[in-house]
Amino acid sequence: MTAHLTDETVRLLSTSQSFARGRELYLNDAIFDAARQGNLLLGKCEGSGEPFYTLQVELDAGYVRFADCSCPYDWGGICKHLVALLLAFVHTPEDFTERKRIPDLLQGLEREALVALLAQLVDDDPELYDGLEAALVNARAVAKSQAPQHARSPSHKSRSGPRKPTLK
Ligand SMILES: [Zn+2]
Repeated sequence: MTAHLTDETVRLLSTSQSFARGRELYLNDAIFDAARQGNLLLGKCEGSGEPFYTLQVELDAGYVRFADCSCPYDWGGICKHLVALLLAFVHTPEDFTERKRIPDLLQGLEREALVALLAQLVDDDPELYDGLEAALVNARAVAKSQAPQHARSPSHKSRSGPRKPTLK
């Protein structure tokens, strides 16, 4: 549930300067491509250093569990772009496009179609390959450890760690 996120919650997560600037961005409609997928909020914010910054927030019962912005802000609390995204969600949640869960999205697709779809995605964005390969190593290790016969699970390298936390 994502209810009960309020202006006050957002204010407590940010410095007064970030809050004031983020509020201004929000009021100037700087947030676009806003989407919601379960507890995840995604969006972009017009930027000064770059055409736009990419935002991601994970909510948990009205609290912010995780927040990330592609801007270089690192001076305490969340940045003004995240403030703008959160205020947009507090005041106009209907502007956030609802995204389906991946299992729902892929429902009914045969294996061949899934493979072709993954191949197409990696062709379009070769950078996806490393993440896909790492995820497959993990998935295979899990599958093996759950298999009835005794199998050595390969020692796999650590997954890429969580992104730079912007919250303490
Ligand atoms: Zn930012």
